[in-house]
Amino acid sequence: MFNLIIFGPPGSGKGTQSVKVAEKYQLKHISTGDILRSEVSQETELGLKVKHIMTTGELVPDELLFQILLNVLETNTDVKGFIFDGFPRTLAQAKELDKQLEARNSGITKVLSLDVPDDEVVDRLLKRAEIQGRKDDNRETIGNRLNVYKTQTTPLLDFYKNQEKLNKIHGVGGIEDIFNSICEVVD
Ligand code: AMP
Repeated sequence: MFNLIIFGPPGSGKGTQSVKVAEKYQLKHISTGDILRSEVSQETELGLKVKHIMTTGELVPDELLFQILLNVLETNTDVKGFIFDGFPRTLAQAKELDKQLEARNSGITKVLSLDVPDDEVVDRLLKRAEIQGRKDDNRETIGNRLNVYKTQTTPLLDFYKNQEKLNKIHGVGGIEDIFNSICEVVD
């Protein structure tokens, strides 16, 4: 299997780029944010548990993400690989992902990290708020989500750097230019 992870702060464009990468390389796109939002809108048991946490921009507990991961792996057994978008977000999640992939004789092939300055992501998120009306795209929550990304998720970059899997991508510019930089790394 060919498995990618894409990191980037909220608003870095990782969702947009993941869709393009998934299409080009025929990978299954897994966005844990999308999975969770769908649970919330369907008012499932999981959705009701995470609704409030998601509106504040804090992270959903690891145990719930482990359940989602297992479900994803068990229901996608004949894929060429995955592109994980928004997962892992904590060291515990990264270790669990390695463990579960290893148990399936697989692993993470490459890790991409989109670099976008704070003022640029804040601008993009405020624009997205107007267009998509996502509940967690407002000024207070955006600040918190950036903070949560920096404190809880960026330490993972060192985890993957130590495994020599990390590739930084300049995430400012046109969607196609950024996509080309990603393809150079993936190819
Ligand atoms: P995203 O669409 O990736 O920005 O995710 C939206 C929200 O879903 C985040 O702010 C978190 O509350 C929650 N979430 C998504 N993925 C994870 C994860 N891997 N771990 C914990 N919380 C997550």
